[in-house]
Amino acid sequence: MSFRSIPKVELHTHLEGCAPPAFIRGLAKEKNIDISGIFDANGGYAFRDFDHFLQIYEAACTTLQSPEDFRRLTMAVLEETAAHGVVYMETFVSPDFCGGGDLAAWKDYLAAMVDAADEAEAKLGITLKGIVTGIRHFGPEACKPAAKCAVETFGDFVTGYGMAGGEMAGRPADYAYSFDMAREAGIPLTCHAGEWGGPSMVAETIRHLGVTRIGHGIGAIDDRALLDEIIEKEIVLEVCPGSNVVLKAVGGWDAHPIVKLRDAGVKVTVSTDDPPFFHTTMTAEYDMLNRTFGWGEDDFRAMNETALAAAFCDEDTRARVAKRLEPAQ
Ligand SMILES: [Zn+2]
Repeated sequence: MSFRSIPKVELHTHLEGCAPPAFIRGLAKEKNIDISGIFDANGGYAFRDFDHFLQIYEAACTTLQSPEDFRRLTMAVLEETAAHGVVYMETFVSPDFCGGGDLAAWKDYLAAMVDAADEAEAKLGITLKGIVTGIRHFGPEACKPAAKCAVETFGDFVTGYGMAGGEMAGRPADYAYSFDMAREAGIPLTCHAGEWGGPSMVAETIRHLGVTRIGHGIGAIDDRALLDEIIEKEIVLEVCPGSNVVLKAVGGWDAHPIVKLRDAGVKVTVSTDDPPFFHTTMTAEYDMLNRTFGWGEDDFRAMNETALAAAFCDEDTRARVAKRLEPAQ
């Protein structure tokens, strides 16, 4: 059985991390950049562990050098994502990879991404929104220009601020300045936590950064009081099981805590994170949840409703996407 045709909402992706390897290879060839070392014999991305994954990711990003590259990337990603039934997608975009954190350059890159998103919505019926993202392992100071870019361009396409990258770099409180800046501008917040860091990292992220969503968050499973806090505050987890399995954040699909989190009353959603890196798609995630935990159409429908309710978009967009989730008559 395949769940490809179910309309899906996906909240946790990284735009560059969704880049099909063939697309990155094509750009490298056009620009004469040698990144052959980042691919395996089959042409997929190759890495040993999480830190190596971050290096390979950043090497792939060196091919993305202009707004036009990001326009083409956005279109390539949306074509691939829409083919798996995704009707609404949020993606992390980093000003660090789009003009080095410079606001004027960021606006040019943003315009190109919006251009592609508008074209894809008209052609493919998929809506894309962007979450401006600081890169944690670049340090707290480097996250400030990203937050400024979010504040200055918050609106129709930019709907959130977040932080990605190496979770073990510093503690959440070190990054509070950027999150405070975004919150004061009314920007919804999410942050990667509890992928590697365990319950204390999730707890500190909630307390010091004031997020309403957590990227991954699976480390919370080991702390019942923290789960109660997450439930009480209605914090939504952007869970990416296939990513966790490939990066060995969990022992395997059978050991993934998503089912325990959901059964405890936590609002869980499912996303692909960086699908070609983790050899996954939204269809594959649903198929594995079905095979491993017996989740079926009703579970997925409820989960997509949870995801849409937690989406950072405006209410008109939410109502428009809700219609796409209704079962076909
Ligand atoms: Zn992520």
